[in-house]
Amino acid sequence: MRTSIPGRAVTGGLVGVRLVNLRDFGKGNYRQIDDYAFGSGGMVLAAPQLKEALDSVTKESGAKPYVVYPSPQGALISQEIIETLALQENVAIICGHYEGIDERFTQKYVDMEVSIGDCVLTGGEIPAMLIVDAMSRLVPGAVGKSKAVIEDSFYRGMLDNPNYTRPAMWEGVKVPEVLTGGNAQEISRWRRREAVRRTLTRRPDLVSRASVREYLKGVNVAVIAENENVNLAGLAETCRAYDAGRPYIIAGNHELREAMKEKYPEAKIIGGMKKLTGVIGENVLTVKITASAKINALHSLEAKRICLEHDGNILFVFAQNERMLEGVDGLTGYLFGKCEEIPMSVEIGIALDRLLGKR
Ligand code: SAH
Repeated sequence: MRTSIPGRAVTGGLVGVRLVNLRDFGKGNYRQIDDYAFGSGGMVLAAPQLKEALDSVTKESGAKPYVVYPSPQGALISQEIIETLALQENVAIICGHYEGIDERFTQKYVDMEVSIGDCVLTGGEIPAMLIVDAMSRLVPGAVGKSKAVIEDSFYRGMLDNPNYTRPAMWEGVKVPEVLTGGNAQEISRWRRREAVRRTLTRRPDLVSRASVREYLKGVNVAVIAENENVNLAGLAETCRAYDAGRPYIIAGNHELREAMKEKYPEAKIIGGMKKLTGVIGENVLTVKITASAKINALHSLEAKRICLEHDGNILFVFAQNERMLEGVDGLTGYLFGKCEEIPMSVEIGIALDRLLGKR
């Protein structure tokens, strides 16, 4: 707590860390804090002493802290858990030892049991340090360049790109050329692609929770219209929120196109899918999304992975009537069980969030 980033956070007053010695609440001449476990004989930290220690913390901070017990039986720690803890005003971490702590204390006063991995340590001190360290770097101002935190592994649920420093050539291995080329746009594109590649090959399980919008190039939305009731304003807002540009309307029929143009003078109305992909540009991946539970439809997670693998523009196609999606190549993502009553702009918002947003 005195060095590096946690040290700066503590000395700069951004984070306060107080150590509480359980011994101070011990009983008798030996200041006893533990006792033999009923039935097995190992040592267990006793509930009354733990409670007194917790009360002292509550008294000093004026409110009951959020109580975390690091334990191999807890939920596996993740960046999401750390982010949740960092939102708490006060967090108390109870370090177990030997066999652990009395279960009654856990049941009554522990808000969250977290494990740092499937291994057993001798005590909760190292897990506590881990939690404080990971929390402290999330406090605004703790990490010098706040952008650095944003770009780290897991911040948006994706792994970081590989990093290199001088010398540019070492033991016969060169740093990827793009990094020394000085083209900022190409560099950021390379970093995005590497992050995607790493995440998909090493930890594909992370993709379901990750926010992937920034790892994709252009995202476009089109709606195949059957009638003029598209609620373009709502749709445009939804698309803006997901950085998906202005939505396109595909209207095959001439009269419908004319009616649409009159109703939505600012709309981008196109006659057909083929014309549309021409407008969006080269290298477009078309992903058709339907809201109803269809057999053989791709799960949204799979659609997300396919989008990540594609190094180019993406076009999500929705239809006012699902029947209209048939016969065009692309993918259909199963997104909802029942959705007849959901307005289309909301339905598309949910779909975009499943595909692009963080879980
Ligand atoms: N008998 C316990 C293990 C106790 S290990 C059991 O099998 O569940 C002693 C203490 O070390 C625990 O109380 C806990 O605070 C800490 N500890 C050990 N392994 C841990 C892990 N993987 N994650 C978090 N804390 C751990």
